[in-house]
Amino acid sequence: MRKSKWQRQANRRWSKKAVWIHGDGPFAVLAWCGELSVTLWQTNEEAEQAKARIDGTGCGGRCVRHHEIVDMSESTQAALPGADGARRGLAPRQTV
Ligand SMILES: [Zn+2]
Repeated sequence: MRKSKWQRQANRRWSKKAVWIHGDGPFAVLAWCGELSVTLWQTNEEAEQAKARIDGTGCGGRCVRHHEIVDMSESTQAALPGADGARRGLAPRQTV
């Protein structure tokens, strides 16, 4: 399956740590509970709902309620503090 730019960007950022990355879209819900899992959403509302859901019920086996939303569309141009520095330049950066 062809990856979208958001899936590629999420992969660049988190594939080293994440056990899986699902979905598609600029809004990423990260669950740092034991292992990192990432879901991607098209809208902030969907991401907020997804986070509220795992905040309420837990994201999995060892949930410690360590969840966050990352808006990749906002930080595309910003330098990431160390997050993907080593992998920068592997894929062509798309500007929108
Ligand atoms: Zn959790």
